Amino acid sequence: MNTENHTDVIIIGGSYSGLSAAMTLGRSLRNVLIIDAKQPCNRDTPHSQNFITHDGEQPHIIAHKARAQVLKYDTVRLVNDFATQAIKTNTGFKVSTQSGLYYNTKKIIIATGIKDILPDIKGFKETWAKSVIHCPYCHGYEFINKKTAIYSNGDKAFHINQLVHNLSKELSIITKGPAHFSEAQTAKLKENNIPVIEKEITEIIHDNGEVKQVIYNDGSTAQFDAIYVQLPFEQHTNIPQDLGCDITENGYIKVDDLQKTTTPGVYACGDNVNKFRSVANAVYTGNIAGAALNMELAQETF
Ligand SMILES: Cc1cc2nc3c(=O)[nH]c(=O)nc-3n(C[C@H](O)[C@H](O)[C@H](O)COP(=O)(O)OP(=O)(O)OC[C@H]3O[C@@H](n4cnc5c(N)ncnc54)[C@H](O)[C@@H]3O)c2cc1C
Repeated sequence: MNTENHTDVIIIGGSYSGLSAAMTLGRSLRNVLIIDAKQPCNRDTPHSQNFITHDGEQPHIIAHKARAQVLKYDTVRLVNDFATQAIKTNTGFKVSTQSGLYYNTKKIIIATGIKDILPDIKGFKETWAKSVIHCPYCHGYEFINKKTAIYSNGDKAFHINQLVHNLSKELSIITKGPAHFSEAQTAKLKENNIPVIEKEITEIIHDNGEVKQVIYNDGSTAQFDAIYVQLPFEQHTNIPQDLGCDITENGYIKVDDLQKTTTPGVYACGDNVNKFRSVANAVYTGNIAGAALNMELAQETF
């Protein structure tokens, strides 16, 4: 069923980046439809840090406030649905959703975030976003001087170790198997007394999400308060690829400085475009996407 005759912009994803783009477009009287499945990636974390004016706020409170402010603009609407497909048409694009609806639009902003792929480790799901964390800027301060593990290997592990070392000297790297460090990295780790444990974690023992202990694949155990992980991720749908958007070798949607993808009329913002994963960056890139797309619409009609 076609439910829409005239929409300037469909924003797929209505979390921080999508709402930020919507606010900019709404303030320019653009007719905007946000399609949002309401599953932001930070939904399991009790507090969101490092976003000025909202430091330490519960993530859903920030989103709720943002939604209320954006929906004050009469030309912006939001539906709770999941976009499954988008195709090019003669006049723009057609976006179909899980509930069987479809919408026509001139332009699209993809603000869908990314989907973290959690490993199959007992206790991981329960501790993820609480004491198993991904980002020192978001959650590192809360674990200052705590017994901390970095569950990673090679350059990535070394990089996180450098950052976290400033927050806690009680650091260990657990490499999930043989370590892959260069000679220089190995020397630096030794110099700084960072133990490298060449084991896999098979279980995380926790108390209500707080890490207490890990069990290794050889049956031995160790105590930690926090574990940093770097998870693989994927895009939520094939919509970017179906629309012909280039994807970078790291799995992000390729955009230019104005958040334009390689497909004309399609923009992307937030976590799905680069590794600088933060609410601030999502809001920033959404703001740019909204303004750049508004300029494109203005040039087409003036
Ligand atoms: C565990 C965790 C903790 C974090 N803590 C912090 C922190 O303390 N401070 C900080 O600054 N940052 C933090 N971050 C990062 C921050 O949450 C993200 O950078 C931010 O949420 C990205 O915003 P986004 O709009 O790009 O994507 P998201 O917030 O992930 O939102 C994407 C939205 O799009 C929707 N969606 C996806 N696909 C579709 C579709 N096909 N159709 C319709 N809707 C769709 C989703 O349901 C969701 O609502 C954290 C991230 C994680 C994972």
